Amino acid sequence: MLKINNLSKIYGNNNKKAVDNLSLEVKPGEIYGFIGHNGAGKTTTIKSIVGIIDFDGDIIIDGLSLKENPIECKKKIAYIPDSPDIYDALTGIQYLNFIGDIFEIPLKERQELINKYSEIFKLKDNLVDLISTYSHGMKQKLVIISALIHKPKLLILDEPFVGLDPKAAFTLKSIMKDMCSEGTSVFFSSHVLEVVEKLCDRVGIIKEGKLVLEGKTSKIIGHKSLESLFLELNNE
Ligand code: ATP
Repeated sequence: MLKINNLSKIYGNNNKKAVDNLSLEVKPGEIYGFIGHNGAGKTTTIKSIVGIIDFDGDIIIDGLSLKENPIECKKKIAYIPDSPDIYDALTGIQYLNFIGDIFEIPLKERQELINKYSEIFKLKDNLVDLISTYSHGMKQKLVIISALIHKPKLLILDEPFVGLDPKAAFTLKSIMKDMCSEGTSVFFSSHVLEVVEKLCDRVGIIKEGKLVLEGKTSKIIGHKSLESLFLELNNE
């Protein structure tokens, strides 16, 4: 579902690579956890996958090259960024309808999915309010709902659990698992290693832009915890 081939990224006149020749693959129905220190290159990788920044190398989404078919690829992706910077002047429901229009979700299906997910995330009563009145967590929930209503084949999340209350975090984890059982692939970055260890089929560890370890979660951690493996790899 997602193939990254030799991804490299240099920002501006910097001579240091933020991401350095990174290759990985996420198969249909897999949850992939992407971990690394602050500044390791996680967000840069994610912004490349979702087509926000240009890059060297190639990214293939559901068989299509992102560089050659950016719109078709973006239709297959939902992206939940680390900070929910959305349109303050819209109400929650206006924002969801805006996303629904962009992704051409038929009205009836859209209403059903908005109802379903706004109830699950306890945001239904707030949808008529301006986004400017939302807390950080409420904005995060709205972005999550907007990602789910267009039924992506590939769900990309950057630090998705930051700012969510425990119930919402639990709900999101359950939804991620359910979506994967229906064939969606999930790729997310996180510093919460216990969650990555429990949730992910595969894990990749990035250090100074390079993928230093990658594989099936149970195989790479063996009898250790992901936390101790991570600290070992980073010489801590
Ligand atoms: P964190 O866990 O802190 O979010 P990260 O793993 O997501 O970190 P990135 O944000 O991808 O790391 O940053 C990787 C490197 O690229 C860092 O050295 C960072 O300073 C640099 N970088 C990121 N964005 C830019 C930018 N817009 N311009 C210049 N350098 C950048």
